[in-house]
Amino acid sequence: MTRTLGKGQNSPNETARVKPMPITAPPPGPDLVDPFGRRITYLRLSVTDRCDFRCIYCMDPDQRFASRDLTLGPAELLAVTRAFVGLGVRKVRLTGGEPLVRPDLIELLSAIHALPGLAELVLTTNGSQLAARAHAIRAAGVRRINISLDTLNPERFRLLTRNGDLDRVLAGIDAAIAAGFDRIKLNTVILGERNGDEILDLVRFALNKGINISFIEEMPLGEVAYRPTTHYSSEQIRARIASRFTLIPTTETTGGPARYYRIPDSPTRVGFISPHSHNFCADCNRVRVTSEGQLLLCLGREASLDLRAMLRNHPGDDARLRQAIREALRMKPEGHSFANGMPTVMGRQMNRIGG
Ligand code: SAM
Ligand code: SF4
Repeated sequence: MTRTLGKGQNSPNETARVKPMPITAPPPGPDLVDPFGRRITYLRLSVTDRCDFRCIYCMDPDQRFASRDLTLGPAELLAVTRAFVGLGVRKVRLTGGEPLVRPDLIELLSAIHALPGLAELVLTTNGSQLAARAHAIRAAGVRRINISLDTLNPERFRLLTRNGDLDRVLAGIDAAIAAGFDRIKLNTVILGERNGDEILDLVRFALNKGINISFIEEMPLGEVAYRPTTHYSSEQIRARIASRFTLIPTTETTGGPARYYRIPDSPTRVGFISPHSHNFCADCNRVRVTSEGQLLLCLGREASLDLRAMLRNHPGDDARLRQAIREALRMKPEGHSFANGMPTVMGRQMNRIGG
């Protein structure tokens, strides 16, 4: 298969700099296995650092974004993804920043979906622009979608996101349900003093909609001014839910760090992602690429490789890119260093990393 992505999809700057690259199936190569024997099959790709929200735990109100020439253009995002899929990655998640602020998102999704060997293409969004685009995203090959939702109170929503409109996100969730995704999951960060009283309401909301919900422990990433003063562990959240609902542990997994429970007589699964209280590093199957093209071997450690430099110094050299990725895997740390009170990983803004 040969196709090009690039013309008309780059910003004027990017068009001048990034030549469209042919999409061809890479030759088969050895799988990505790190020094601890973990096979890397999952890529999380931050397709932009930009966002229409400024969630208090993710960004500062006056957040500055990278200039466009420093972030990867669509042809580069595709080249990186193609390299990983050629190395055995089977699942790709587009995240950000907010992926839906990219006007070319649907074209990018379609091109990634067409990569030979890719089994699963998924997306994480804040839902604000989903009402208009859910069908197109589903049609582009995305079968599972995560939508972030931390509160059902419009005023609180505006405070937590600094400018978000809850109604738009709720409309986005309904549009996703109507679009027929195989699985829809809410991602919820519980910040003790801000929304801890809504845990049961959020579970009821997921139950009523027939969708899943995962609670994520807040992580000390980046240098944002806000950090919760009370830390809510997954165990506390689970106990709160168990006070009203029967939670049946399940061994089901989506290949990620979440532990899941079922609620009887409902399709809803409740998940817990617990970077603090449950170290999942031994089963880590993923790497991340930031919106500026840094390959991050671990969310909570500094090890990285500058893929952007490689893409720009050797455009079209897929073999070199794959070899560099293979070699970088040797740097993958055994585990993160999150612990209560741990200082932030410097310079790691969640919107650039892709949460
Ligand atoms: N903008 C999209 C969204 O909000 O879903 C995708 C990017 S966002 C960085 C991905 C996920 O990271 C969201 O569910 C968000 O709540 C979560 N997140 C952001 N900062 C976090 C932090 N410091 N700790 C834990 N989760 C965080
Ligand atoms: Fe934007 Fe998502 Fe970060 Fe909120 S969590 S500011 S929606 S990137």
